[in-house]
Amino acid sequence: MSSPDSASSGAPERGDLDALCAPMKSLKGLGPRGEELLTKVLAKPLTAPRVADLLWHLPSGYLDRRLTPSIADAAPGAVVTLVVQPVRYNAPQKGAARAPLRVVCEDESASIDIVFFHGDRGAIRRLLPLNELRIVSGRVERYGSRLQMSHPDYILAPSERDRLPGIEPVYPLTLGLTQKFLYRVMGEALARLADPPEWLDPALLEAESWPTFSRALRVLHRPQSPADLALWTKARERLAFDEVFSAQLAIALVRRGYRQLSGRPLVGDGRLAQKMRNALPYSLTRSQEQALAEIKQNMTAPRRMLRLLQGDVGSGKTVVAALAMAAAVEAGAQAAIMAPTDVLARQHLDTLKPLCEAAGIPLGYLSGREQGKTRAQLLEMLASGDIKILVGTHALFQPDVVFHDLGLAVVDEQHRFGVAQRLSLQDKARGGDADILVMTATPIPRTLLLSLHGDLDVSQLTEKPAGRKPIKTRTVPQERLEDIVEGLHRALRDGAQVYWVCPAVESETAREMTAAEERAAHLRQIFGERVGLVHGKLSGAEKDAAIAAFAARETSILVATTVIEVGVNVPAATVMIIENAEMFGLAQLHQLRGRVGRGAAQSSCVLLYKGPLSETAKSRLDILRQVEDGFAIAEEDLRLRGGGEVLGSRQSGDPGFRLAQWPQAASLVERASDVAKYLLARDPYLKSEQGLAARRCLILFERDDAMRLLQAG
Ligand code: ADP
Ligand code: MG
Repeated sequence: MSSPDSASSGAPERGDLDALCAPMKSLKGLGPRGEELLTKVLAKPLTAPRVADLLWHLPSGYLDRRLTPSIADAAPGAVVTLVVQPVRYNAPQKGAARAPLRVVCEDESASIDIVFFHGDRGAIRRLLPLNELRIVSGRVERYGSRLQMSHPDYILAPSERDRLPGIEPVYPLTLGLTQKFLYRVMGEALARLADPPEWLDPALLEAESWPTFSRALRVLHRPQSPADLALWTKARERLAFDEVFSAQLAIALVRRGYRQLSGRPLVGDGRLAQKMRNALPYSLTRSQEQALAEIKQNMTAPRRMLRLLQGDVGSGKTVVAALAMAAAVEAGAQAAIMAPTDVLARQHLDTLKPLCEAAGIPLGYLSGREQGKTRAQLLEMLASGDIKILVGTHALFQPDVVFHDLGLAVVDEQHRFGVAQRLSLQDKARGGDADILVMTATPIPRTLLLSLHGDLDVSQLTEKPAGRKPIKTRTVPQERLEDIVEGLHRALRDGAQVYWVCPAVESETAREMTAAEERAAHLRQIFGERVGLVHGKLSGAEKDAAIAAFAARETSILVATTVIEVGVNVPAATVMIIENAEMFGLAQLHQLRGRVGRGAAQSSCVLLYKGPLSETAKSRLDILRQVEDGFAIAEEDLRLRGGGEVLGSRQSGDPGFRLAQWPQAASLVERASDVAKYLLARDPYLKSEQGLAARRCLILFERDDAMRLLQAG
């Protein structure tokens, strides 16, 4: 009998995947330059691409060279294959050596010029000898009154016809990479593709008419029939399903591993939380109360909590977390809240400080910046239990950070973290049994929650705190920038605090300066010292200082990059100006806009854009103008951009989705989740034939971390 351990040690299922999991650079004919270009186009920054990763690079379209019309029937713009007879060389005039060489060719129907802008003329004449038949394949264009084909992709003698590919995939490229090269290397990769055992139910394959995994890849890279040329095909669907399925399986494993571990009841008596509440200048909204009740119910149960607190920007998640942490402290445990940036962690500190003071709860702060004595002292107080609530950044993960008794870990803005990190914070707990509350301000469409979090428990803050007015949003072309600046004079006279956001790019005019630095310099000429600046290149302390100065009204305009996207909270700020809005994602714009509209005053947002805008870009900005509900925006974003970017989430350490980058893929998530759960219900340790096959699927999609959890069982 095989123990779970021997089955999951990796050897048996890895064997036949070695070829696909080998580094891409092991492919024949792939030198350092080629590797560099492919790595770039695969956009996989965290780990070296494998052969499999190259195979995930699917064509964005196909050329059908079997199309062989007569010259008269060749449609300008189309790629066609023609059988022609060269009849004349129109060499450029003497002294006009840079003019192209035109080879006039005919068939019975009409004539066409084959044009060469460069190249060895002797060689061209040998390729296209006069009065012999030649097969040429390439894109036909109209030039004045004539048809032409410049630099055909293929020029062949009739006897060489079989060298012409019938259908040719067209791959997304990067500068320097050619279709021909990619096609050839892909051929090498496909040669490594054996048939791994099937991980999906035969019944499912049949019901969906899905091909096998390897057949799907072959059909996509080397299509044979016209039916294969559609862009969303059964083959694509199958692979997208595999990818989503692997993610769902991994999530289900993590989740089960988590559920199996028991927690401990954290029962508070409400005495500290009540003091906190008394210190609040407002009362909680109904959905805040509801979320808190759900959290406390999990905390008091002997089972471990893993709950997502989802709420639009400004919906007031922090205070919910604060009250939950107070309950943990009442129960005698410690609590920690972790944020993705220094700026945000500081902000939590500012929010929590008065509340903890009111309740008499000792509070600590730890980021990467605390060093030496301060740090040592803090760690000591943490280990002894003298600090009850710790606020911080990733620094909380450092191995020497030891809690006396961590009962509740709150992770803010979860989309910046990976599952693994989340679990490692939990490991900080004494028995590894801390309750976990994950907070996200990113409105994740309901359809995608499943894919990102499995069947995580979810609380939602559905209403904004009372008294908030909707943010007035306008779109304004960049040319009217001066009008906006003009308008700022009045706004500042009325005491407004203004954010001015620039994309984090180098400006076109001044190479070493970022767009934000340049804009700040410009605005300082007009508004002088009232202009602050914060961007990613500043040190943590500099960032804090800039934001603090803005919050204290020492500056009135804060020019910023997206460093303020996450969580910066200055309720007095009422004007948000976003430059080059067309360069931002919709969800990101929504996050940025959410920095205003946090107080009772009327707020406004100006989206400055550089035209001309594509249709999609226009619709995106329009949506933002009309809609303020983050969920509706996220759904729209998903529709406009395709599921990939949302599914793929930009979390560091998360491989994201490569094949499921289609809007259609979003509909696969729920089914993939069911299939994964069904498989685990029948075969909890993935030891059956199908289970072992499914392990291969996890490996192929780099979810093999999750297999670690099979051993624990
Ligand atoms: P989120 O993190 O969800 O974006 P925050 O927790 O930063 O939102 O809260 C945004 C602002 O709303 C803060 O200034 C907070 O003090 C305030 N706030 C939170 N809850 C309420 C409430 N029930 N009534 C009024 N203001 C609230
Ligand atoms: Mg927040």
